[in-house]
Amino acid sequence: MPCEDVADLGGMIFVEGAFRPGAGPRVAVENPATGEVIGHIAASTAEEIEAAVAAARRAFHPWAGLPARRRAEVLHRLGDLIGADADAMARIMTLEQGKPVNEARGEILKLAEACHFYAEEAVRVHGEIVPNDQPGFQSLVVREPIGVVGAITPWNYPAELVGWKLCGALAAGCTIVIKPAELTPFTALAIAAKVAAAGIPAGVVNVLTGKGSVVGQALVEHPGVDKIAFTGSSAVGLHIQQSCPQVKRLSLELGGNCPMIVTAAADLDAAVKGAARRSFRNMGQICIAINRIYVARPVYDAFLEGFARAAGALTIGNGLERPDADLGAMASAEPLAKTREHLSDALDKGARLVAGGAAPQGAEFASGHFFRPTIVADCRQDMLVMSQETFGPLVGVAPFDTLDEAIALANDTPYGLAAYAYTRDLGEVQRLSAHLDYGNVALNSVDAGIMNAPYGGRKQSGVGYEHGREGMLEYFNFKHVRLFHGEV
Ligand code: NAD
Repeated sequence: MPCEDVADLGGMIFVEGAFRPGAGPRVAVENPATGEVIGHIAASTAEEIEAAVAAARRAFHPWAGLPARRRAEVLHRLGDLIGADADAMARIMTLEQGKPVNEARGEILKLAEACHFYAEEAVRVHGEIVPNDQPGFQSLVVREPIGVVGAITPWNYPAELVGWKLCGALAAGCTIVIKPAELTPFTALAIAAKVAAAGIPAGVVNVLTGKGSVVGQALVEHPGVDKIAFTGSSAVGLHIQQSCPQVKRLSLELGGNCPMIVTAAADLDAAVKGAARRSFRNMGQICIAINRIYVARPVYDAFLEGFARAAGALTIGNGLERPDADLGAMASAEPLAKTREHLSDALDKGARLVAGGAAPQGAEFASGHFFRPTIVADCRQDMLVMSQETFGPLVGVAPFDTLDEAIALANDTPYGLAAYAYTRDLGEVQRLSAHLDYGNVALNSVDAGIMNAPYGGRKQSGVGYEHGREGMLEYFNFKHVRLFHGEV
């Protein structure tokens, strides 16, 4: 099926290797840049959920039993097909999510990279022979795929967050039922079209659409689903953990409230550039977006001046019509309302507005969810912008006097996803990397994630990893086989 047009994918679910019209009621999907309805999805019914889980169960043993090289071949093919159709898939993503087409294309290409990475990993699944405490025994530790995975994903990275789960799971030998976010279902369905074209056996990948509280929850509760791989908010992640009626493997990639520290020894230009990129990219709708910045007092004013200039220079537009804009529309009214709430809270509590603070003006922005990149200075820790995840183009800045104080402020949060720091002092580098209590720490850079290193949070930011070899280990059970052979 071509995926140039969401009309092809509207109302469809993907079960047992084929698209079929969903039987459930239709739910509208909007273009967040214009407010126009771009299509409808079907709210998957209980029967369809059963059919998808049953298909994934039937497909599990044959898929897991294939030689790893065969699984690798189809994953490579999937990566090739996705990479070759990146332009069309990017337009679908922009249409439903709002990010500019060039950025969306970058995300699709990273999805293709994930397919190739996990195809390579699939053929390197090793076990271990471990020493025994008595002669005549041999212990093998082998890895076996967990089974059927329920993957539940958010709307901010509609391709990658589906892809990391799909690729890790399939490489390990698991099968999967995917429930993408209601706001961005068409990217997931476009991926399903590539799954079919790549010749991945029927039932190995299934995509259901519909509400999280119904379809996602049904996967969480289903005894035929062996593992839930979830990315989304901490509140829903906790709810999933608490509402899961069986003992089930869970990986939860959750929210963040990510700090950045700029010391007096920083390359200030680089810090400004990094801050502008990681605070506002994808309109701040990134789990690892910078929420709050602590700047050493001697460089505080200079940093703020540069940062305000950099924020003001970012271009905003309808991501389809201006593919090279820095920023597009926010994905829906909800994160925009939260951004406004956090901004008002900061201003009410005495913060100083140094950039943005309102929606851009003009006909182009009249019907969409737009907001200017916004910086508030002189912030205190009790402001919402400093203590909660804004998930919008708003960042709070505050001065500090000692590095210990900055590290304590950075760690003063229930979250633990990513932290950033800029300094050229080797001692500071060492202290920051040792004491920042985060799963990802980027120093003198704001690109915390690479495909072959583990990516995960701690504390309320979640459990488990994606990316890297660790991302595939999430889809295995270990089995210890202890054999007495009697030979000494
Ligand atoms: P969300 O938690 O509202 O929804 C995520 C997914 O969960 C959606 O598909 C939704 O339909 C589903 N869902 C909702 N209720 C459910 C339930 N009761 N049972 C099962 N599924 C349910 O999150 P969102 O608003 O879509 O995404 C934004 C959040 O995701 C932010 O908090 C962000 O930090 C987080 N996020 C985390 C990472 C990470 O890697 N740690 C990456 C991206 C986004």
